[in-house]
Amino acid sequence: MDCIFCKIINKEKPTDMIYEDDKIIAFKDINPVAPVHILIIPKKHIPSVDHIEVQDKELIGKLFLVVQKIAREKKLKGYKIGINVGREGGQIIDHLHLHLLAGRE
Ligand code: 5GP
Ligand code: ZN
Repeated sequence: MDCIFCKIINKEKPTDMIYEDDKIIAFKDINPVAPVHILIIPKKHIPSVDHIEVQDKELIGKLFLVVQKIAREKKLKGYKIGINVGREGGQIIDHLHLHLLAGRE
Protein backbone atom coordinates (compact mmCIF):
# COMPACT_ATOMS: atom_id res chain seq x y z
CA MET A 1 0.00 0.00 0.00
CA ASP A 2 1.34 3.40 -0.94
CA CYS A 3 0.59 5.26 2.29
CA ILE A 4 3.15 7.73 3.66
CA PHE A 5 1.99 7.25 7.24
CA CYS A 6 2.17 3.44 6.96
CA LYS A 7 5.74 3.91 5.71
CA ILE A 8 6.50 6.02 8.80
CA ILE A 9 4.92 3.33 11.03
CA ASN A 10 7.03 0.66 9.31
CA LYS A 11 10.17 2.80 9.68
CA GLU A 12 10.58 2.93 5.91
CA LYS A 13 10.46 6.73 6.13
CA PRO A 14 12.32 8.70 8.82
CA THR A 15 10.38 11.06 11.03
CA ASP A 16 10.62 13.07 14.23
CA MET A 17 8.96 10.53 16.54
CA ILE A 18 7.30 11.79 19.71
CA TYR A 19 5.50 8.68 20.97
CA GLU A 20 5.07 5.02 20.08
CA ASP A 21 3.24 2.05 21.52
CA ASP A 22 1.84 -1.15 20.00
CA LYS A 23 -1.20 0.62 18.52
CA ILE A 24 -0.38 4.31 18.09
CA ILE A 25 2.44 6.61 17.02
CA ALA A 26 2.87 10.38 17.20
CA PHE A 27 5.37 12.48 15.29
CA LYS A 28 6.05 16.09 14.34
CA ASP A 29 4.26 17.41 11.28
CA ILE A 30 6.75 18.01 8.46
CA ASN A 31 5.12 21.34 7.64
CA PRO A 32 4.06 22.82 11.01
CA VAL A 33 1.42 25.54 11.10
CA ALA A 34 1.93 26.20 14.83
CA PRO A 35 4.92 26.09 17.21
CA VAL A 36 3.65 22.68 18.37
CA HIS A 37 2.18 20.60 15.53
CA ILE A 38 2.10 16.87 16.20
CA LEU A 39 0.23 14.15 14.34
CA ILE A 40 -1.24 11.26 16.33
CA ILE A 41 -2.19 8.22 14.28
CA PRO A 42 -3.30 4.62 14.76
CA LYS A 43 -0.93 1.97 13.39
CA LYS A 44 -3.98 0.36 11.82
CA HIS A 45 -4.57 1.86 8.37
CA ILE A 46 -7.98 3.48 8.79
CA PRO A 47 -8.38 5.93 5.87
CA SER A 48 -10.48 8.54 7.69
CA VAL A 49 -13.09 9.16 10.39
CA ASP A 50 -15.60 8.08 7.77
CA HIS A 51 -14.04 4.59 7.81
CA ILE A 52 -14.03 3.99 11.58
CA GLU A 53 -15.81 0.77 12.54
CA VAL A 54 -17.42 -0.24 15.83
CA GLN A 55 -14.47 -2.51 16.68
CA ASP A 56 -12.15 0.54 16.43
CA LYS A 57 -13.84 2.45 19.25
CA GLU A 58 -11.28 1.54 21.93
CA LEU A 59 -8.43 2.48 19.60
CA ILE A 60 -10.06 5.83 18.83
CA GLY A 61 -10.40 6.53 22.55
CA LYS A 62 -6.71 5.73 23.03
CA LEU A 63 -5.75 8.30 20.40
CA PHE A 64 -7.18 10.98 22.67
CA LEU A 65 -5.37 9.58 25.71
CA VAL A 66 -2.11 9.84 23.75
CA VAL A 67 -2.96 13.47 22.92
CA GLN A 68 -3.50 14.10 26.63
CA LYS A 69 -0.23 12.37 27.57
CA ILE A 70 1.80 14.41 25.06
CA ALA A 71 0.08 17.64 26.13
CA ARG A 72 0.91 16.93 29.78
CA GLU A 73 4.50 16.00 29.01
CA LYS A 74 4.94 19.18 27.00
CA LYS A 75 3.10 21.16 29.68
CA LEU A 76 0.75 22.66 27.11
CA LYS A 77 -1.66 25.09 28.75
CA GLY A 78 -4.15 24.70 25.96
CA TYR A 79 -4.32 23.15 22.52
CA LYS A 80 -6.46 22.39 19.53
CA ILE A 81 -7.19 18.99 18.03
CA GLY A 82 -8.01 18.94 14.33
CA ILE A 83 -9.23 16.12 12.13
CA ASN A 84 -9.73 16.64 8.41
CA VAL A 85 -12.08 14.25 6.66
CA GLY A 86 -12.12 13.81 2.89
CA ARG A 87 -10.64 16.09 0.21
CA GLU A 88 -13.38 18.66 0.70
CA GLY A 89 -12.60 18.57 4.42
CA GLY A 90 -8.92 19.32 3.78
CA GLN A 91 -7.62 15.76 4.20
CA ILE A 92 -4.51 15.09 2.10
CA ILE A 93 -3.16 11.89 3.67
CA ASP A 94 -5.69 9.06 3.68
CA HIS A 95 -4.61 7.55 6.98
CA LEU A 96 -6.60 8.74 10.00
CA HIS A 97 -4.68 11.34 12.02
CA LEU A 98 -5.28 13.94 14.71
CA HIS A 99 -3.48 17.26 14.48
CA LEU A 100 -2.36 18.50 17.90
CA LEU A 101 -1.74 22.24 17.64
CA ALA A 102 -0.45 24.60 20.32
CA GLY A 103 1.53 27.75 20.89
CA ARG A 104 -0.20 29.85 18.29
CA GLU A 105 -1.69 33.17 19.31
P1 5GP B 1 -4.21 16.41 6.36
O1 5GP B 1 -4.40 17.59 5.48
O2 5GP B 1 -4.30 15.11 5.59
O3 5GP B 1 -5.12 16.44 7.55
O4 5GP B 1 -2.78 16.56 6.98
C1 5GP B 1 -1.68 15.85 6.55
C2 5GP B 1 -0.50 16.41 7.29
O5 5GP B 1 0.58 15.51 7.12
C3 5GP B 1 -0.04 17.77 6.80
O6 5GP B 1 -0.08 18.70 7.88
C4 5GP B 1 1.38 17.52 6.30
O7 5GP B 1 2.26 18.58 6.58
C5 5GP B 1 1.76 16.25 7.02
N1 5GP B 1 2.70 15.41 6.29
C6 5GP B 1 2.61 15.02 5.00
N2 5GP B 1 3.63 14.22 4.65
C7 5GP B 1 4.38 14.06 5.78
C8 5GP B 1 5.57 13.33 6.06
O8 5GP B 1 6.14 12.65 5.21
N3 5GP B 1 6.06 13.42 7.32
C9 5GP B 1 5.45 14.17 8.29
N4 5GP B 1 6.01 14.19 9.50
N5 5GP B 1 4.32 14.87 8.06
C10 5GP B 1 3.79 14.81 6.82
ZN1 ZN C 1 -1.66 4.04 6.13
